[in-house]
Amino acid sequence: MRRKPFIALVLAASLTVGLPAAYAKEVTAPPAQVQQAFDNKIIKRINVDNIYNDIGHLSSKPRIAGTQAEWDAVQYIETKYASFGYDTEIQSFPFESYEIPTVSVTIAGDTIASDSFTYTPNGEATGEVVDVGLATETDLTGIDLTGKIALVKRGDISFADKVLNAAKAGASAVIIYNNTSGSLNGTLGAPNDAFVPVVSLSQTDGDRLASSLANGQAVSATIEVVGGGVLQKTSHNVVAVKEPTNKKKATDQIIVVGAHHDSVAGSPGANDDASGVATSIELARVMANMPTDTEIRFVSFGAEELGLLGSYAYVETLSQDERDRIVGMFQMDMVGSRDAGDLVMFTVDGEKNVVTDLAAAAGVRTGTTLTYGQEGRSDHVPFYYAGIPAALFIHSPTEPWYHSPEDSLDKISKAKLQETAEIVGAAVYQVARPDTPALERAKVAPKPVEYEKEVGGLQ
Ligand SMILES: [Zn+2]
Repeated sequence: MRRKPFIALVLAASLTVGLPAAYAKEVTAPPAQVQQAFDNKIIKRINVDNIYNDIGHLSSKPRIAGTQAEWDAVQYIETKYASFGYDTEIQSFPFESYEIPTVSVTIAGDTIASDSFTYTPNGEATGEVVDVGLATETDLTGIDLTGKIALVKRGDISFADKVLNAAKAGASAVIIYNNTSGSLNGTLGAPNDAFVPVVSLSQTDGDRLASSLANGQAVSATIEVVGGGVLQKTSHNVVAVKEPTNKKKATDQIIVVGAHHDSVAGSPGANDDASGVATSIELARVMANMPTDTEIRFVSFGAEELGLLGSYAYVETLSQDERDRIVGMFQMDMVGSRDAGDLVMFTVDGEKNVVTDLAAAAGVRTGTTLTYGQEGRSDHVPFYYAGIPAALFIHSPTEPWYHSPEDSLDKISKAKLQETAEIVGAAVYQVARPDTPALERAKVAPKPVEYEKEVGGLQ
């Protein structure tokens, strides 16, 4: 990492220009050299091998939300935080997950390649196949499908409406075939008791079946849909709290450092996001005995990959008072891939905020030029919608191994981890240490450096 020699000049210059009154307190902050001495209290203590080893432990298997593997990770993370003396809490939350069924279509003893639709009921049906076109209400007027299987072409109306129309006409099952090349995996939108079992066929197989029927051939089929359904599952957040060391001199402010521990199916998730979790754990270890006047919460979220479920669940538990007191949320997601680009900060609205200002300043002090851009897609999003300044720290462009079985420990770069840990650690500590004035909730954003906007967002 190249340290920039003109750091002190940049800081000095920007501190002397006429800052708005709201920045007045920060102008009295220590000069750059003193600031760097404070950074070093964090930086010198970071041991990147700890981060690397925790990634190794966490990425020994995929950690899909709601599974035993996620629970194992949750316990590992909680034990780590507790070992540093933090108060910890495992916050469990329910979610629904759709289990994809096994389907089969058999015609005259031949099994035809088929796929399923999300929210199809399970069931088995054997009967005569009847071509009902697109299965619009008009197509089905006056047609009795009792005991029969409807053959339906994709198009014009929703899959759900096709199934409902055919079911209303008495069909015991529905085959929907594609109107373009490739296999067809659709969704019926939501469970509905009026649905009958439905499977899909390719355009080629569907067309062949339709022309047999058009030629007057009687075709009987057997359809099976097994093992599908909505399951109730539980995922977990791990929350570790570092209380201010001197309660009497404490501000009432809170900083949140976040990452997510769940991974997608089939991926060890070394970079996504064991890297962020392990970096949070190391920062927690480093800060455990540091004097601070600000509460720091290290939160590891579950079910991020299923739609930021853990962070939404966490923000939901925050009172308005807590939301008001959280002055910044730093989300680290995918911060250690050797094959990804530079560290970039992303906010939901694409605007700078106190978090990006703090980290950009820390970057200048530690020798990294940060840029910012617009992106959601991680756990900073629910915080943003709760009115909390939040940013995602991630390398852009992302690595080709993203969400694949190749997202493994051997692709992790200790240099990338070290850089992220230094920047986020120094930025958090600038707020949390007792000698700096309290941030007045985005009114006192430190503005020591200029930093550029990335065009095009996360690549
Ligand atoms: Zn991911």
